[in-house]
Amino acid sequence: MKYFRFGMNTLRVTQNWKGNTSHLYHWYHSTDYADYPIDVAGENGGRDTYYATVDMKVTSIFGIGKGYTNTIWLETVEQVQTPSGIMKVFISLAHFNDNDIYVSKLKVGDIIKAGNPICMEGTDGTTANHLHMICGNADRGSGNKLIQNSNGKWVSNGYCMKPEEIFYIDSDFTKVVSDGDISFKKIPIIDDKASFFGSNGYFQLGNYHENIGKICYFFAEYFYGYFYSGSDAKERAHEVLDGNYFGPYLKKWTIEFQKRAKIEGNYDDNIDGCIGPKTLEALKKYGFVE
Ligand SMILES: [Zn+2]
Repeated sequence: MKYFRFGMNTLRVTQNWKGNTSHLYHWYHSTDYADYPIDVAGENGGRDTYYATVDMKVTSIFGIGKGYTNTIWLETVEQVQTPSGIMKVFISLAHFNDNDIYVSKLKVGDIIKAGNPICMEGTDGTTANHLHMICGNADRGSGNKLIQNSNGKWVSNGYCMKPEEIFYIDSDFTKVVSDGDISFKKIPIIDDKASFFGSNGYFQLGNYHENIGKICYFFAEYFYGYFYSGSDAKERAHEVLDGNYFGPYLKKWTIEFQKRAKIEGNYDDNIDGCIGPKTLEALKKYGFVE
């Protein structure tokens, strides 16, 4: 599942959907159709490119050479992760110029692979370079044309949603210069602790993971004395604490370690024999290396 990301290298919102200007009556007090447009203007007054951040199919192109605003409509080829759930997403981008070097090569039905350009900002039907962007949930109604709402505004015919509900900002790709007073979500960063433990966030009896093997080795090598003594104590510990499986011996060692290090359990509030972030932190104090 891919995150649906905003597609420009700079986010500079010059008009949000909620302001008191031309976008307001796209939705406010509309009794039928509504959309929530934002104007995005890139780094400066020039023409920045909007990229497909996942594979997207062109569903409509209109306006070029005609009396109405140049607009391209696209939808994701597959469902994507958005801040409001998993769905196919549609977007439309308007105001690119008649001779846009990217759109002029496109036709309805084309698939734009992730990372490739869709269009550039332009001034068709407006005065300053920007793109007027609309988005929504294509599973509930993909938009590919405009329809007049009860306020007399021409809005998308699809199931429109607010941009902050549809796309994430990927800080590695997009620099936010102005968010237009909208709280966009950033793509969650997977922290080191979570990745050490895999998707569960901790290890417990019955789990299998290569990092479990590392902990077993560490216990056998340095803490064999918990349960064995004599010249072959370390060897015996290595025999029972063997491999990447979280078995009963590892649980026994973990509980003993937690008691001695006075760690509260990570899985619940007891010394529980599960290895989570707190136990990992304590193990590191004793020399464990991830
Ligand atoms: Zn606009």
